[in-house]
Amino acid sequence: MSENKLLASEASLRELNLTKDKFFSIIAHDLKSPFNGILGFSKLLFEQIRNKDYTGIDEYAEVILKSSQQAINLLTNLMDWSRFQTDRMKFSPEYIDANVLIRSVKELLIISAEQKSISIKLNLPDKLLVYADRFMLETVLRNLISNGIKFTPRKGKVIISAEEKEKEFLFLIEDSGVGIEKINFEKLFRIDENVSSLGTENETGTGLGLILCNDFIKKHKGDIWVESEPEVGSKFYFTIPKA
Ligand code: ADP
Repeated sequence: MSENKLLASEASLRELNLTKDKFFSIIAHDLKSPFNGILGFSKLLFEQIRNKDYTGIDEYAEVILKSSQQAINLLTNLMDWSRFQTDRMKFSPEYIDANVLIRSVKELLIISAEQKSISIKLNLPDKLLVYADRFMLETVLRNLISNGIKFTPRKGKVIISAEEKEKEFLFLIEDSGVGIEKINFEKLFRIDENVSSLGTENETGTGLGLILCNDFIKKHKGDIWVESEPEVGSKFYFTIPKA
């Protein structure tokens, strides 16, 4: 085997090993915390209802709802990522009306935005015909928009814009949230770094969402990057090249 081939195979083994470590660390640490919330509060709910004491049970139900949402988001990302990493996810680009897709992702996330009184604004051209894998593009949008909601305090805003350039489409998901330190910009998208913090209402996470976004955008030969200022907000950009 030539030296180049050996180096490439070493790099791919290293990547595989990092993937495996990340996977196990997520299962071991992060999956547990939403379940703790669900279990603890359903036990309380059950005991109080049995004693016909209904004080505060709507709040317990809300915690259960939010923790279940977090658990399902996490599991969805984890399963998608595992399918992608093990080549079980087909890449099937097609012409997609991204305007319609963005509106449907917004509809999915509107409840969690409303829970924090966050407005989601769209700034999109009418025609936005992108050649992309529908599932991957939707996953990227869902992760970036839900991060915008998660890391923005009450009454803030999230703005989704898109623009057709000469050779690509440029998307921007912008929020008025807590922002990110410059030192972390690159790390966010890397599997060998671990950046994860709680949302403004203690929403948990894994640091997997942006890695997944990076993998999916790279598959389209596009780019993804962030600009942000702590206490002001964040701007996540990504591009999809034209077919
Ligand atoms: P998760 O949100 O599950 O931790 P992500 O990969 O989506 O995983 O994000 C990794 C980390 O990047 C977050 O925990 C947070 O620290 C930071 N981050 C991501 N998006 C934003 C944002 N819009 N505003 C502020 N910080 C963000």
